Amino acid sequence: MENICKPKQEAYDNLGPLVVKALKARHFDSWYFSSVEEAKEKVLSLIEKGKSIGWGGSYTLEQTGILEAIKNGDYKVIDRDNANNKEERKAIQKQALIADYFIMSANAISQDGVIVNLDGNGNRAAAMVYGPDNVIVVAGMNKVCKTVEDAVNRTRNIAAPINAQRFDIKTPCKTSGSCENCKSERSICASMVISRLSFPAGKIKVILIGKELGF
Ligand code: SF4
Repeated sequence: MENICKPKQEAYDNLGPLVVKALKARHFDSWYFSSVEEAKEKVLSLIEKGKSIGWGGSYTLEQTGILEAIKNGDYKVIDRDNANNKEERKAIQKQALIADYFIMSANAISQDGVIVNLDGNGNRAAAMVYGPDNVIVVAGMNKVCKTVEDAVNRTRNIAAPINAQRFDIKTPCKTSGSCENCKSERSICASMVISRLSFPAGKIKVILIGKELGF
């Protein structure tokens, strides 16, 4: 994880609490932390021991060490990487959607507290809408955009092309570096979920971190 320069840290430390305020007004339980360590501690404090937990693929969760801490924690971990074959993996992914907790990142968050996620597989998008009793969203301040329109634009033109590269998915954006609005079968943009409120209140919890995390 890269360190950020002092002015950027200060800018994030100024903006982060304002975004938290906007998220809270939309009934997302939310917190801002400057450091990854404080954020990680908060995330783990939100998860009750012995309960089931699943997650959506997220570089942020890997970078912060949160995923590793969960895998080694005292929880009923629903880990698709433990599957022996494709069918088993699919079944485990479905189990994660009825877990007590689901942890993921966001592709973008607007400054007025709207969370945007773009998904090919749909498991992260589904969890945001319905299923797990608690959804914990962990995101770096690099995901914060001025408006919802900017957030949507970020998902299509920044997050998706980089993820296509990361997973070597042969979409047009993999070669051009920005969205070509494809209808490819392998498109990682099948569904976009715009979460404007948490229902019920507090179901979705957001941990914002004053660092550059994920894509
Ligand atoms: S719609 Fe297609 S080209 Fe655009 S970001 Fe998604 S996968 Fe890439």
